[in-house]
Amino acid sequence: MFRIGNGYDVHALAEGLPLRLGGVRVEHTAGCIAHSDGDVAIHALCDALLGAAALGDIGLHFPDTSAEFRGIDSKILLARTADLLAEAGYVIGNVDLTICLQRPKIQPYIPQMREVLAGVMGVALGQVSVKATTTEKLGFVGREEGIAAIASALIYMPE
Ligand code: MG
Repeated sequence: MFRIGNGYDVHALAEGLPLRLGGVRVEHTAGCIAHSDGDVAIHALCDALLGAAALGDIGLHFPDTSAEFRGIDSKILLARTADLLAEAGYVIGNVDLTICLQRPKIQPYIPQMREVLAGVMGVALGQVSVKATTTEKLGFVGREEGIAAIASALIYMPE
């Protein structure tokens, strides 16, 4: 029994904030404005996993109105999401993440992101794909006003 889910998230950028993407600190002059640590990539991934299991979304489980989640490391949200799926009897097949940003180039960080995300979800490296794209300077991403992330997840319930 295979199930798929998708996730999408956007955060605005502000100068001087730390930038965290895919569980990794990325060197940049700006970072995401958020209630949590602003890891837009992990947020999209959590939504893809929750969506695949029809377990709602990240806002339902980790509300940004709750003090508990202020400044929280998004890796904790991903770990809790993986636990929710496991409790419901699901196993993660694979995930695929696309991070849309104009700058900086994040290619050098991708191997580490894959390793970190795989570790948090308790899956093998080969089950985690991370990709990056610019939007050719178009739109809010191109103007460097924000970062977007899109994720897909395939999960299944073992026989
Ligand atoms: Mg978010």
